[in-house]
Amino acid sequence: MFSLRPKRDPSVLNADLHCHSSVSDGTLSPGEIALRAKEKGVQLWALTDHDELSGLAIAAEAARDADLPFVPGVEISVTWGPETLHIVGLRVDPDSRVLADGLEHTRSGRMRRAHEMAAQLDEVGIHDSLEGALAYAGNPDLIGRTHFARYIVEVGRCDDVKEVFTKYLIAGKPGYVPVQWATLDDALAWIAAAGGVAVIAHPGRYRLDERELRDLFVQFKERGGVGIEVVTGSHSPDQYKRFAKLAQEYGFRASRGSDFHGPLESRCELGSLPNLPDTVVPIWRDWA
Ligand code: AMP
Ligand code: MN
Ligand code: MN
Ligand code: MN
Repeated sequence: MFSLRPKRDPSVLNADLHCHSSVSDGTLSPGEIALRAKEKGVQLWALTDHDELSGLAIAAEAARDADLPFVPGVEISVTWGPETLHIVGLRVDPDSRVLADGLEHTRSGRMRRAHEMAAQLDEVGIHDSLEGALAYAGNPDLIGRTHFARYIVEVGRCDDVKEVFTKYLIAGKPGYVPVQWATLDDALAWIAAAGGVAVIAHPGRYRLDERELRDLFVQFKERGGVGIEVVTGSHSPDQYKRFAKLAQEYGFRASRGSDFHGPLESRCELGSLPNLPDTVVPIWRDWA
């Protein structure tokens, strides 16, 4: 028997194309993540901080020093109907003016939201949370729910960040303040202007029914979206299968990423996910 499959199957590359540094809501610096990714066996690494590009230059340098192939990325917060979506841009130009300006605009509502979150938390007896959250924010422009979650753990209201996201900071609970993020059109236009490819992050995590999810896939594809995350720290093994099938059906390339935020907080370590199913085309297949 012989196989028509190429000898070096790209789906077995240990690619980790989604993670966060202290430039957004991760706990390690971009340089520390580069070293950790290398140590954990990652062979292709993207840093994808929320709505922020300022970690990419250091990340690229640290990756070069560690002999780790690096992909500049970003994870853009998008408001789509009532839902917040995350769109990952990969191979973006870190110096793109269009992307940087768009992200700056998207970030601008965060501090105002943080004040409102703190006011709500104050009412349930969690005081000084803005100062507390800021102490965890490497970059105050990116102040977000994760930083508040760490403070809520610090003051002993919850055992861990995961628990916080069941009792606080989510719709219907104290500390939840909705934000108007970027539109899907804008996010895709910015990524395209920066020469990148757009990927829907953790599609299994959104509160969308089957019809809404398919509607999203159609809109995303029509606007030039290229891929979806299939194997991510946010998906169960059943969801790997489900989204591999959907990727095939819609002609999306598949991405793989841990969504690592730090050693003590993440469901998933850098480079530790299973390989992509061999039925999908890896997003990195044709990358040099
Ligand atoms: P923000 O962009 O400020 O609304 O915060 C969103 C971030 O909160 C995500 O990127 C995650 O890091 C974190 N987050 C949201 N939901 C959860 C959850 N259920 N468990 C842990 N972290 C979460
Ligand atoms: Mn995050
Ligand atoms: Mn996300
Ligand atoms: Mn993420």
